[in-house]
Amino acid sequence: MSTIGEAWFLETPGKPLVRKEILLADPGPSDVVVEVLACGLCHTDLTYASGATPPKHALPLVLGHEVVGKVIAAGDGVAHALGKSVIVPAVMGCGECPFCKIGRANACLAQKMPGNDIDGGFATHLTVPGSALIAIDDAPGSVDRRNLSVVADAVSTAQQAIFRAGLGEGDVCFVVGSGGVGAFVAQIARAKGAHVIAFDVEESRLALIEQFGAELAIRVKDREVKEVRKEAGKAAGRYGVPTFRYRIFECSGTTSGQQLAFSLLAHGATMVQVGYTPKPVEVRLSNLMAYDATLHGSWGAPPQAYADVLPLVYDGKVALEPFTAHAPMSRINELLADMAAHKLDKRMVLDPRA
Ligand SMILES: [Zn+2]
Ligand SMILES: [Zn+2]
Repeated sequence: MSTIGEAWFLETPGKPLVRKEILLADPGPSDVVVEVLACGLCHTDLTYASGATPPKHALPLVLGHEVVGKVIAAGDGVAHALGKSVIVPAVMGCGECPFCKIGRANACLAQKMPGNDIDGGFATHLTVPGSALIAIDDAPGSVDRRNLSVVADAVSTAQQAIFRAGLGEGDVCFVVGSGGVGAFVAQIARAKGAHVIAFDVEESRLALIEQFGAELAIRVKDREVKEVRKEAGKAAGRYGVPTFRYRIFECSGTTSGQQLAFSLLAHGATMVQVGYTPKPVEVRLSNLMAYDATLHGSWGAPPQAYADVLPLVYDGKVALEPFTAHAPMSRINELLADMAAHKLDKRMVLDPRA
């Protein structure tokens, strides 16, 4: 195979991505070439593009880690993947190391993340390891396959965070930051029978999450943490469950969100840090001791998270459509600027052929 494709490269942080032709080489024995149907635009792409955080691979690098597409060439060792429609997971473990072997492939030290460790999905094609792909040929016709791109990160990450928190039916689920990953945490928690209380600064996101998962949406803009904590505690108290069944998910990736989430910790409760900010935050860590509470970090998702969450997506219990919007990939630089200006309230799904 030697075909020409196209990709948008990060060459200089803070400068627009550069569109270039790429030559598609035959994949190695354990790799596949995926023709990209769609790639989601994640806030992490902006942190790399803006220079706030450098990607692990040297520049130039093709960004984009939420890929759905079709395998058009496969190495000998992964020939079974040829012709399949697949999600390319944002986090692909090596499959061999001690982390992978105990089911923590998301924490694998040899993991490959498109658009970070290897060239990503802001392209017509990308080459990735063939062993970690998630087949979606059984997706029902009711599901827009382009939207399954967001399962590669936003939805699977939400599923893994919920697993990490040990969330169960009847638990109280606090979701701080109800856009992006938070919207999917709220929906999965609801599907599992939890009571969801969501927090956000944006009215539009709060209105949407009240339709899709949250029993209560609390506005936090320009409010003191103490005041929000009081309102949330009162609301949660009505469910009459002990506080060790409170599961708190910090999905905003802001220091104010982290402060709020930490303040929601109560006796025996569990918090999971899902969002990312490079900024430090001041909290009284001893509250964990005093409350006998638990704080987890959660990075990406191992393969088993897909098997758990895709059925919820396929039967509509986790809706993707209301939280996604479509755009041509040729608008990528404009969309990155909109994201930096907080003008995007939906997950953008990009078409590389437009
Ligand atoms: Zn991401
Ligand atoms: Zn590994």
